[in-house]
Order: sequence, then structure tokens, then C-alpha cells
Amino acid sequence: MPAPVDGEQHALAVFCAAVPELRARAVRNFWEDTLEMHVAEVAAGGSAVSACRELDLSVAPPPNRDDGVGARTDWLAAPSLVGAYVCPGKRCPRRADRDEQARPPRCAVFDEQMRFVRC
Ligand SMILES: [Zn+2]
Repeated sequence: MPAPVDGEQHALAVFCAAVPELRARAVRNFWEDTLEMHVAEVAAGGSAVSACRELDLSVAPPPNRDDGVGARTDWLAAPSLVGAYVCPGKRCPRRADRDEQARPPRCAVFDEQMRFVRC
């Protein structure tokens, strides 16, 4: 049975990134309990792949590991901090930036504020 860890990790990141939007939709359409059930299952170690499938969330194949690493043209270091927010404990592989209001992102699955790491 093909159950690559990478696919599961990728689905977890997709699921985590989608949860805030899904919550807004769930509240409007009265399926909040269903969504929270899936979030709780995934946080408890359940399959993010099946949670995405049951919620009709399309998960693109995991990006090629070489993507974004090749031919870089920005040789000069940016004057600001370069990095991304990651989940504390590294259970969720999602990486994110601050939102439109410049607030640090939260991991929606584990309900923790994400931690900034420098690249
Ligand atoms: Zn997360």
C-alpha cells in the first residue's frame, strides 16, 4: 500500500494552511463540528491525507525538492530577516509568512503560534 511519509506530511501542511478558510466556510454552512472533528483527529496523529479527502480538499503532489533551489539571481542579501514561520515541535511541516495584518501565523492543526526561523 503506497503510504509515503512525504505525502502525509505534505497533506498536513496543506490541511493546516486551509483550516482558517475552512473554519470561516464551516461557520457559514453549519459543519463546524465536522471540521473540528477532523482537526482533532489530525492533531491526534490521524491521517491528514484522508481528512483532506473527506473535506474535498485538493492536495497537489508534493513539490519537487529542487524547486526554488536552482538558479537564484538574488545574490545580494536582503536587508531584512530572511526566514519563515514553522510550527513549534516541527510536527506540522507547513511554512508560512505573516498575514496581511503582519500578525505571526498560527498552526491551525495544533493551535500553536508558529516560530520564526532564519533560513
Ligand atoms: Zn501547522
